[in-house]
Amino acid sequence: MSAQSSREFDVVIVGAGVIGATLASLLVARKLCEPGRVAIVAERFATPVPASADWDTRVFALSRASERLLRLCSVWSSLPAQRVFAYERMCVWDSQGQPQGKGSVTFDCAEIGEPNLGFIVDSRVLQWQCLQSARSAGVVLLEAALEAAALGETHAAIRLSDGRTLRGRLLVAADGPESKTRTLLGVETAGHAYHQDALVAHVRTAKSHDNTAWQRFLSGGPLAFLPLPDGRSSIVWTNALTEAARLRGLDLAAFSAALTAASGGVLGDCEALTAPAGYPLKLQYALDYARPRAVLLGDAAHVVHPLAGQGMNLGLLDCAALVDVLEGAGGASYFGEYTVLRRYERRRRSENLFAAGALDGLERLFSTAGPIGAGLRSAGLGVVGKLPFAKRHLAQRALGLIGDVPEFLKADRAWQRK
Ligand SMILES: Cc1cc2nc3c(=O)[nH]c(=O)nc-3n(C[C@H](O)[C@H](O)[C@H](O)COP(=O)(O)OP(=O)(O)OC[C@H]3O[C@@H](n4cnc5c(N)ncnc54)[C@H](O)[C@@H]3O)c2cc1C
Repeated sequence: MSAQSSREFDVVIVGAGVIGATLASLLVARKLCEPGRVAIVAERFATPVPASADWDTRVFALSRASERLLRLCSVWSSLPAQRVFAYERMCVWDSQGQPQGKGSVTFDCAEIGEPNLGFIVDSRVLQWQCLQSARSAGVVLLEAALEAAALGETHAAIRLSDGRTLRGRLLVAADGPESKTRTLLGVETAGHAYHQDALVAHVRTAKSHDNTAWQRFLSGGPLAFLPLPDGRSSIVWTNALTEAARLRGLDLAAFSAALTAASGGVLGDCEALTAPAGYPLKLQYALDYARPRAVLLGDAAHVVHPLAGQGMNLGLLDCAALVDVLEGAGGASYFGEYTVLRRYERRRRSENLFAAGALDGLERLFSTAGPIGAGLRSAGLGVVGKLPFAKRHLAQRALGLIGDVPEFLKADRAWQRK
């Protein structure tokens, strides 16, 4: 690669989604890199969201670990209060059972001594604030497409569409599920399509959501109602492709009626306020997370079923684990050492594969038609509901309070002061 108009950094990140931007801020916040020593390359950067804009139809359910990480990066304190909603309960039930009755399980933050079970956050606002925090931390933002990547002894180098070359001690692929960086690095993926679309929309419901995330498992896929601060809910409704296409073709009144029926009336009549948008779903995992001088994280490394709202949370834990590992590397010149990066790979690949496998298994179990599947589901939820220890464990794991969580997210209470 030509050295013409070449710039050098400690870390070069491709992708300016929440994961890429958070990693950049965290590297500076944890004093691993000086301002100006981290670059993010993206074809497009997020744009500001006017205060008057409605909530984006995409929302994220974020865990306690994600909240702490975003506090450390000064993102959390910048999120407008009206774009974040703390929910207190989660009720999951099978279509054959009843919410809060037979074949259901309810998690309550009070049962685990937590103030809430997590947060619903506006996707566009989160993306913008992550980028702003990176900018304020002195991260260099370069708008261009990635053309080529090469891994050398001491540096990784990438060539951009405008002819510039960037060199970094470490190259990070955070460019999402279709990661071009991953392809250029020759990392293969495995997985399968779910042949399902997740439909997302905002809805008003006749009954209050009661600060609860509701999720009903139907044979076509789960239907979730995520509570918003103004009483509305944001739905994520998974359906087989043909059914999803049919539902998207309905007018809002007919879609609302179908939604009310699918919800089993748990929140009364539903009124869809936005046309449903569809997202195709797949399970995908990269076979390697590390190469000498390069790593993958976020959706570039793993794409999971959204039924438990875990994809972003897992990606943020990737950021925390990578920073944790780099803290023990002995300085920026060692950031790209394969032995260092393999430590990150070992930690996160197993955790993410476990999560992806568990979500895949749940998806299969809940979409198994017939009496055996229904019996198993109902019994399984009923058993979990009756075992306080199992419920506590599941809730704490979903919150990121246990599992592969670096000490600086557990023990360092500095996040509480930001
Ligand atoms: C319906 C649905 C609901 C979900 N709900 C939740 C939830 O509640 N909670 C949760 O934790 N997760 C959820 N997820 C998962 C979550 O959306 C993803 O895990 C998360 O967005 C991944 O972030 P990322 O930054 O890795 O990738 P992305 O968000 O895909 O960002 C990648 C970035 O890279 C840029 N890029 C792409 N290609 C290039 C290139 N060649 N050069 C430069 N830049 C490039 C893109 O423009 C983008 O900015 C959900 C997913 C779906 C589909």
